[in-house]
Amino acid sequence: MTHLALREHHRFEAAGKPYLFLVPSAAVVGLDAASDMVMQVLASGEKSRADLLTLADGLFSEDEIDGAIHDLVAMRAIGPIEPQQPMPKILPLTPVPLGTMVLNVTNQCNLACTYCYEYGEDKIVDTDNGKQPKFMSIETAKQSVEFMLKESGEAKTAHLTFFGGETLLNFKVLKETIAYARQRAAELGKDVDFSLTTNATLLKPDVIEYLVQNQVGVTISFDGPPEVQNKFRVFHNGTGSYDIVAPKIKELLQKHRRRPVGARVTLTSGNLDVKGIYRHLTEEFGFREVGFAPVTTSAKRTYALDEQGYDHMLAQFTALAEDFKEAAIEGRHHGFSNVKETIQEIHQGMSKAYPCGAGIGLMGVSTAGDVALCHRFAGSDTHKLGTVRDGVDRAAQTAFLESHHLANKTDCSTCWARPVCSGGCYHEAHTRYGDTTKANLHYCDWIRSWTEVCLKVYAEIAEKNSAWLAQFDREPAAEKVS
Ligand code: SF4
Ligand code: SF4
Repeated sequence: MTHLALREHHRFEAAGKPYLFLVPSAAVVGLDAASDMVMQVLASGEKSRADLLTLADGLFSEDEIDGAIHDLVAMRAIGPIEPQQPMPKILPLTPVPLGTMVLNVTNQCNLACTYCYEYGEDKIVDTDNGKQPKFMSIETAKQSVEFMLKESGEAKTAHLTFFGGETLLNFKVLKETIAYARQRAAELGKDVDFSLTTNATLLKPDVIEYLVQNQVGVTISFDGPPEVQNKFRVFHNGTGSYDIVAPKIKELLQKHRRRPVGARVTLTSGNLDVKGIYRHLTEEFGFREVGFAPVTTSAKRTYALDEQGYDHMLAQFTALAEDFKEAAIEGRHHGFSNVKETIQEIHQGMSKAYPCGAGIGLMGVSTAGDVALCHRFAGSDTHKLGTVRDGVDRAAQTAFLESHHLANKTDCSTCWARPVCSGGCYHEAHTRYGDTTKANLHYCDWIRSWTEVCLKVYAEIAEKNSAWLAQFDREPAAEKVS
């Protein structure tokens, strides 16, 4: 055999053992001592088999080194030296079925959260004076249901998520849409899974009763303790919303037992006590799942996370991920959904050419019935992929897939985290750089560090309680919407 060299990988340790995250296959493999030695030796430069045997003399037998070389070559962790190939750009040949349709039933909100990407300084669509209606009509909602059922193709279940604005401001249309979707899906032999995101201000007893009876999945945008919630999540007159939403959320959590109710927390520069918020939401409220997302905003806003903020968030996430790991090893539930979602992707060996399903298996629909990349772009003409009446504009979709493929993001081509990150959220890129095709290079250090944390958690769970991971052997229920 000619000289051997390392192939793209990331080495990490978990529970005192060495592992590799292989790029681009996204596989995670544990190393025995001989394989680890081969990898470490090759890290200093290419070597022949004879070189490796000489260096291993007295440490490992010839059989052990040959076995290690064989296994590492088979998994493409090492191989003969070959010229660097450009990343292949493979686009889906046939349209991908629509798994999740996010319906923006209104673009109006009764809160005026300072950091809101929809109404704040970074908004994409003019929801006050623009051409989109403030509320979706039932006619448009029904057309959207027909669009969803058609575009879901052969899939037995379609996922319909209501989004806003504040979804419950258009509760009447929401209810009629659910009834209509149920009836039409039954006629077609399909099921529809319903969910919504709300700020909880309008969760009156009859609304809660409806959501429970209809098994609508609920995610609540809620930032946690009063001092945090009241700082950014305020009514139009500036009053904090904690005292209004807290009892409503508690009632919902008490009554809505058949589906887990999740909380979605926005992290800002002044609000980074992740562990404290997590405790408040799980222990005082009883949320089953809590997901955190750094605020999407231009770097110049005072509440934007800077480098220090990302470091602080990482430390807090890491501590919570440790708790998650211990719980998983002991077979207990832990609701830190950020780590769970990444572990799921790692377990399923996802190597993504696109960061999320936007414009592929997930689409957003504006109040006028325009189809967009996702809910965050709903109503934006520049990010339009058709209408619910005329269907997906395949030429626009192909142009989107072509221009947003990971292969175009040259900075990502040498990054070991790209199977997980793939350049990051288009909306974040649009807000930061004014261009959805750009990679989110402002948070690479954070992404790589967080991916490493998740890899370590994953490997240790796999080592100590692999049965826990079986829950990820089936496909994810629906695209994440946040
Ligand atoms: S955006 Fe940064 S972290 Fe993500 S794949 Fe590209 S280079 Fe890697
Ligand atoms: S990750 Fe960003 S672009 Fe993708 S669906 Fe979510 S908000 Fe939209």
